[in-house]
Amino acid sequence: MAKTDTLHIVGGGMAGSEAAWQAANMGVSVVLHEMRPQVKTFAHRTGNMGEMVCSNSFRSDDDEQNAVGLLHWEMRTAEGLIISTAHRHRLPAGGALAVDRDPFSEAVTKALTDHPNIAISHEEVSELPSEGHWIFATGPLTSEKLGAAIQTETGADRLAFFDAIAPIVYAESIDMDVAWRQSRYDKGETEEEQKAYINCPMTKPQYEAFIDALLAADKTEFHEGETATYFDGCLPIEVMAERGRETLRHGPMKPVGLTNPHKPEEKAYAVVQLRRDNALGTLYNIVGFQTKMKYGAQASVFKMIPGLEEASFARLGGIHRNTFLNSPTLLDAQMRLRSKPNIRFAGQVTGVEGYVESAAMGLLAGRMAAAEILGRSLPVVPQDTAHGALVHHITGGAEAKTFQPMNVNFGLFRPLDGLRGGRKGRRERYKGYTDRAKDEWSRWLATQKEPA
Ligand SMILES: Cc1cc2nc3c(=O)[nH]c(=O)nc-3n(C[C@H](O)[C@H](O)[C@H](O)COP(=O)(O)OP(=O)(O)OC[C@H]3O[C@@H](n4cnc5c(N)ncnc54)[C@H](O)[C@@H]3O)c2cc1C
Repeated sequence: MAKTDTLHIVGGGMAGSEAAWQAANMGVSVVLHEMRPQVKTFAHRTGNMGEMVCSNSFRSDDDEQNAVGLLHWEMRTAEGLIISTAHRHRLPAGGALAVDRDPFSEAVTKALTDHPNIAISHEEVSELPSEGHWIFATGPLTSEKLGAAIQTETGADRLAFFDAIAPIVYAESIDMDVAWRQSRYDKGETEEEQKAYINCPMTKPQYEAFIDALLAADKTEFHEGETATYFDGCLPIEVMAERGRETLRHGPMKPVGLTNPHKPEEKAYAVVQLRRDNALGTLYNIVGFQTKMKYGAQASVFKMIPGLEEASFARLGGIHRNTFLNSPTLLDAQMRLRSKPNIRFAGQVTGVEGYVESAAMGLLAGRMAAAEILGRSLPVVPQDTAHGALVHHITGGAEAKTFQPMNVNFGLFRPLDGLRGGRKGRRERYKGYTDRAKDEWSRWLATQKEPA
């Protein structure tokens, strides 16, 4: 192989480590550039590859009823380094995959260091090169210089430094006997646009009780300096409520331009709106409801909203330091930067969220880049697998305008014909999704086995 066929991977976190492993196992020479320990981040403690920056959990390991567990399964069958090492350093934690973090990252580092096709170079990369094969997997704490270079290439508004995530609800769990579909003032050319939002009405007593609960809820504290950049654009709802009990009713909960078809005579005192979050229409975000409430508090406060009493959340809200691209507009289906296709991105910087999801995107990027270098064609990742659902979401399925980082969840999966919707059919449906995914993932992997 010519020297120019080397694959350069920037960032030795969850995604970069997995990408390096996958590509190296396909026979490609890899240089893994990691800036730690010389250049530090506020969250990492060591110079190890695959360091877990916060919790030590890879979440559910249930591959029949849970989308994260399914992602584990898919990574395991693809001989993923991160997942197999996590299993070797597993701690007792019920159905979750909890990991002994230091032995885990030491083992990831050793596996990469010992691999004959991988060289590790401890240095910061601060440019997007125009030549060579590159994967950038620099994560939520991408270094400042590189962040600036990415902004120069993509445009300042295409790289975010914070996520302000409003909670995301499974559409099927919204009570449509209470809620209704309508855009404010019926705006839009088509019927679909005129009915783009789901509205949940509140009476005055319901609104007052909701504000009381918001003010009383447990909140996560901001880190020093964390508030400065985003405060004007996207205030957390509880901060809005602290500014005045009526603030939300004149902001994201304003009741104007909407008529409740279930009670046309009654004017709602406030309305919570939900907006479609994916092309499939299975997920809706609560508009303007970014929050620093703790997860337990969020679930109970949001279930006070009429129509959401039985809501299931695909993800809860949050505001965090997080560097991520507007991937639906910037990346192609092969995770390449459209404007510089010699560069791929992987991991959290592409707008997935979590250790497992980041490693999974590294697994795909590593295989895609290696196949390209080897001149092999890699079949498209099937959309009905957990990997496929995620990569499809970030590279096109998500609404680009409101794009925020996403965990893997069954709302990203295409519906299965003949299976019952709603809560009651859930077990059977999830089993259907995971069975279908396992079949398709196994077939996809089989296409990549070299002939004996
Ligand atoms: C404070 C914090 C807490 C979190 N807690 C959790 C949690 O509890 N559970 C969870 O699932 N997820 C959590 N996350 C998200 C978590 O970071 C990701 O899930 C995961 O680590 C992302 O993997 P990654 O490979 O994309 O990035 P990382 O694992 O962060 O790896 C990126 C690597 O790139 C390196 N790097 C950055 N810039 C450069 C450069 N210019 N040149 C060379 N190297 C560079 C970094 O040093 C780092 O090693 C948290 C994130 C943060 C910031």
